[in-house]
Amino acid sequence: MGEQKIRSKLKKLVIVFLIVCSIIVGVSRCLLGSVTELYAESVQGRLEERALQYKKSFLFKMNSDLQTLRAMACILEDTTTENTTPEETGRLLSNLWDAGSTVGFVRLCYFSQDGTGMQLTAQGQPVAIEISDETAEMQSAIQQALQGNSLCSRAFYDPMLGYNTVGYATPVYTFGKISGVLACSVSTEAYADILSSIGAVSDIGAAAVLSSDGAVVASTRTHQTQGFYDLHGSAYLSVGACEEFSQALAGEETKFFEFESGDLLLYACVMPMGICSDKIVIVDTDKGISDAVSGVVDYAHLIGVMFGVTSIVFVMAVLYINRRHGRQLLQVAYHDRLTGAYNRDKFFQLLDQNWKENMVYVVASVNIRKFKYINELFSPVRSNQLLKDICTVLKRHIEPGEFFCRDTADTFVIALKTLDRDTVRERLEGIFAEIKASCTSIPANYPISFYCGCAYTSDCSSKSRNEELMSHVMMALSNAKQTQQANISFYDAEIHKKEKLQAFIENRMEYALESGEFQMFLQPKMDLNRGTLSGAEALVRWVVDENQTIFPDQFIPIFERNGFCVQLDYYMVEQACKQIRAWIDAGLSPVPISVNQTKLLLYEEDYVQRICAIAQRYEIPGHYIVLEILEGLALENPEQVSERIGQLHAHGFRISMDDFGTGYSSLNTLSQIPIDELKLDRSFLLQAHRSKEYNRRKILEVVIEVAKWLHISTVAEGIETAEHVQLMREMHCDYGQGYYYSKPIPAERFTKTFLLPNAQSADL
Ligand code: C2E
Ligand code: MG
Ligand code: MG
Repeated sequence: MGEQKIRSKLKKLVIVFLIVCSIIVGVSRCLLGSVTELYAESVQGRLEERALQYKKSFLFKMNSDLQTLRAMACILEDTTTENTTPEETGRLLSNLWDAGSTVGFVRLCYFSQDGTGMQLTAQGQPVAIEISDETAEMQSAIQQALQGNSLCSRAFYDPMLGYNTVGYATPVYTFGKISGVLACSVSTEAYADILSSIGAVSDIGAAAVLSSDGAVVASTRTHQTQGFYDLHGSAYLSVGACEEFSQALAGEETKFFEFESGDLLLYACVMPMGICSDKIVIVDTDKGISDAVSGVVDYAHLIGVMFGVTSIVFVMAVLYINRRHGRQLLQVAYHDRLTGAYNRDKFFQLLDQNWKENMVYVVASVNIRKFKYINELFSPVRSNQLLKDICTVLKRHIEPGEFFCRDTADTFVIALKTLDRDTVRERLEGIFAEIKASCTSIPANYPISFYCGCAYTSDCSSKSRNEELMSHVMMALSNAKQTQQANISFYDAEIHKKEKLQAFIENRMEYALESGEFQMFLQPKMDLNRGTLSGAEALVRWVVDENQTIFPDQFIPIFERNGFCVQLDYYMVEQACKQIRAWIDAGLSPVPISVNQTKLLLYEEDYVQRICAIAQRYEIPGHYIVLEILEGLALENPEQVSERIGQLHAHGFRISMDDFGTGYSSLNTLSQIPIDELKLDRSFLLQAHRSKEYNRRKILEVVIEVAKWLHISTVAEGIETAEHVQLMREMHCDYGQGYYYSKPIPAERFTKTFLLPNAQSADL
């Protein structure tokens, strides 16, 4: 991966990381918001619940006070008349007082229709009083009672008692008519008792009953509430909070809000009492019951902040490391430690860039011959110095746009822009010479030598071009290693193809023989005068699969070299015998089959025995098999060959000399070895056919004549036209073989084409 690519990947990574972090922070903020909202709602719910509890208790208290007053009024109704004097009324009130004071009445009054009345307080003595002496709140309640309503007033300051009270009034009937009003006062301390008995949500919380103008009617008796709700001068409430309270007290709905007091966040609930304009107020913190929730929210906040900070620190660290150590990392990643030259990765990276720009290079892999021994002889330290010296020389020699790397151990790969082979050679030789001259670590008398494989980038087209290129370079390198003379070798596609095929052939030959991939094709040998079939030649075909057939000229030379031809030829003799047996068994008249024999066979000690054994296995008389030997063999060792031929003749086999005319044999050879047939190479026929080649023609005529004289039949190879037939007939050649009659064809087709028609005509 290139430096640019790494940087842009890193950049992308950081951006993605930041985006992911932002999303996480965003999502967690939303979640926290929701949790906080839910939490606030739960605090509100609890405050409201508690306010409702207060409200119910207040209503219960008021109802029961009013019930008590009503009961007292009923007692008065039964005991008073229109003529009851104020003194009697005072006595009656005194009788009722005990009951009233036990439920918290602090004053009990009776007013008649004319506005005069009596009152009784904790002092004990009834006192005359008039409605007009009462506070506005009490007067209003009395007036409504005179209208027939039983009710409770809002809280008010009673100047006669000197503290806040709530007044109750209920009508008193005489003979069905309202004769007066019974009224009582209850200290607001009773409300304070209720507030204190239930308690606020937490220890810090405070509850109160406030009138709509902000006056405190009653409040919980904790030190925090002393003056807490004084909207005009509270030490606890800010101006903003006082305003919020004033608005909530003026309204008719339950209100919630938050405010800060000192370092506390407080939540407030203001709820109307319902029966008068007073409001129940509860203020609490988020402590106490909500501590757990609050703790979770706090932790979540903390974790969120820590995550954000860690992410930022991480990104900064990555950027810092990238900036500070990027170069060092790249140096380690793309350079060879010992020499400081580029390494293979960097070399391919540069090559990749050049592929894109369609630049053509000669890539040369340079190796030191016997570097292993240099290492052992002169110590690794000195060998390392040699590698460093090579690197220095290469740096000096490469031109702009060229580059090199140290691949492995003693292998350097250079990309040269010079394309001409001779100039490449010249440049490389120059480099080698300079290395030898400048190297001080190895003694001057030690012959350092190099070998080098070169390939053109333009020869590579596959997707994995770098691999393809290096495989070309390696092939050229191994070629250069093998041939000691030329130390610089260029990759050759044709040679490579051949080498590939050779490797394939050698790897597969044994398997191919066992699995029957070698197939016998037959080419007819015709009687030139009669035009009838006189024999067939067995020619091997290697059918790898239906798409690939390999021809003998591709593998026979290889088999001749590696000796496998011996096995193949025995196999072909066996195939020929098998075929003749099949013809005999099918009732057809067999023709002799000629089988090509490698010269290696004739040097096999048990050659004759093995051939005989094969023929006997199929019960084939020897004369059905013609063994074709090459003319060169006769020259090599005529005596041994003649002896072998004699042994074969003894078993009836016939011998043909193949490709006569291609080697250096002379007519004299014919007299030296006892062959039965002479196969004139197709080059003879081709030359004789050209009318100008009179001498050639004459030579061919003489060869045929000599053969006849020696009782050797003649076969002309390469008969391709009717003219060829005519020419060879005129020359008294006996037989002909060639594409004119047929190409080599599978044995089955040969039988159908050449043997079956003969059999049918014979039947006729
Ligand atoms: P060969 O024995 O001289 O075989 C004749 C070759 O000439 C055959 O090639 C055949 O296909 C070709 N030929 C026949 N008629 C004509 C023609 O009219 N025109 C032309 N241009 N060519 C013709 P093939 O089958 O490719 O065999 C090549 C050579 O390989 C053979 O030459 C023989 O030396 C060798 N060979 C083939 N089969 C065997 C085998 O089983 N064992 C051994 N040791 N050698 C074999
Ligand atoms: Mg032949
Ligand atoms: Mg031949």
